[in-house]
Amino acid sequence: MDIQKIREDFPILHQQINGRPLVYLDNAATSQKPLQVLEASANYYRNINSNIHRGVHKLAQSATAAHEQARETIAKHLNASRPEEVIFTSGTTDSINLVANVLERSGTIGEGDEILISGLEHHSNTVPWQMLCEATGATLKVIPVLEDGSLDQEAFATLLGPQTKVLSVNQVSNALGTINPVKDMIAAARKVGDVITVVDGAQSIPHMAIDVQDLDCDFFAFSGHKVFAPTGVGILFGKYDLLEKLPPWKGGGEMIRLVTFEKTTYNDPPFKYEAGTPNIEGGIALAAALDYANAIGMDNIYAQEKLLLDRATAGLSEIDGVKIYGTCPNKASVLSFLIEGIHHFDLGSIMDQMGVAVRTGHHCCQPLMSRFGITGTVRASFAVYNTEEEVDAFIAAVKKGAMMLS
Ligand SMILES: *Cc1c(COP(=O)(O)O)cnc(C)c1O
Repeated sequence: MDIQKIREDFPILHQQINGRPLVYLDNAATSQKPLQVLEASANYYRNINSNIHRGVHKLAQSATAAHEQARETIAKHLNASRPEEVIFTSGTTDSINLVANVLERSGTIGEGDEILISGLEHHSNTVPWQMLCEATGATLKVIPVLEDGSLDQEAFATLLGPQTKVLSVNQVSNALGTINPVKDMIAAARKVGDVITVVDGAQSIPHMAIDVQDLDCDFFAFSGHKVFAPTGVGILFGKYDLLEKLPPWKGGGEMIRLVTFEKTTYNDPPFKYEAGTPNIEGGIALAAALDYANAIGMDNIYAQEKLLLDRATAGLSEIDGVKIYGTCPNKASVLSFLIEGIHHFDLGSIMDQMGVAVRTGHHCCQPLMSRFGITGTVRASFAVYNTEEEVDAFIAAVKKGAMMLS
């Protein structure tokens, strides 16, 4: 694979930070956008910007066609059985809130019921479920995290039961990189009964091929911006029969069939869940981003990132006082660590002075940080456009920081 050629697609990477070449290793927070995506956004506004659906004029028809074409591209990427299973949202957070809210409105969750998440979850796959529990009297249960950052599957088996109504877990942890066996977990949940299964795919979508039919999940949520697309657009995949059965959440334009002041009837999925004018350009750009990723190949992306992760892990392991958080063998390209006696923020700041962009802090996973008795980590996260030279610059920056701060 020609990484230099891929890098040419990302204009933002070719700049100096504090007099040094930018080494962007904050991809788990947001990815950079290739020219192909920037052009899809610009092309939309330059040539076809118009509000979608119900348009009698040509521009509205072009915008509608591009929007619905994007939905089809995204459905195909996820291997959804039909495009109507793809709902445009503003991101993972919005998608998970949508599921929690429609479950609340459906009236099927109540006292004695349990919502099962894991100790690895992002706040956006935690707080909406806590809110659902507060509203319904259900109880939140948490699958514990083992020392190596994997989920305790034995504990999971004992937590599952007829009282379990929802299982919502991430496929890849944004804080530790752990890849969770969500397919097996969903299968286990299906065995105990009528469990709604939700996958937070925010960190798996950039790194691996996704097949929602193979996972057999009821819902799959992700954000565009983590996979080369703009912020403000995301997806909720939902199985069609569930989407038909469940009530809508937000009310407004697009989601209705017939409105009178006495009663409103609702549109079919996915429109039932898409109140108001969506991020039209964002959806089109997201389809372009997935096309871009597929042109490289998800397996090639995974292999390149694995190479970088292994090199970085080996380099870090040689530095005195380094402790890596998340050491299970099945990991995506996220590397979280601390150096004994050094605050994550201080180390991150020195690395920034050397042009190396990493994230420090709790990574929206405060309960997980508490589990390890820490307030945060330094996190490097790799994308396909990162190089081995950049990994070496990262290791050099960590060494320099460790020397200056200890
Ligand atoms: C980024 C992220 C989220 C939240 O995504 P938003 O784009 O902020 O809505 C949720 N879960 C995981 C695992 C993430 O990495």
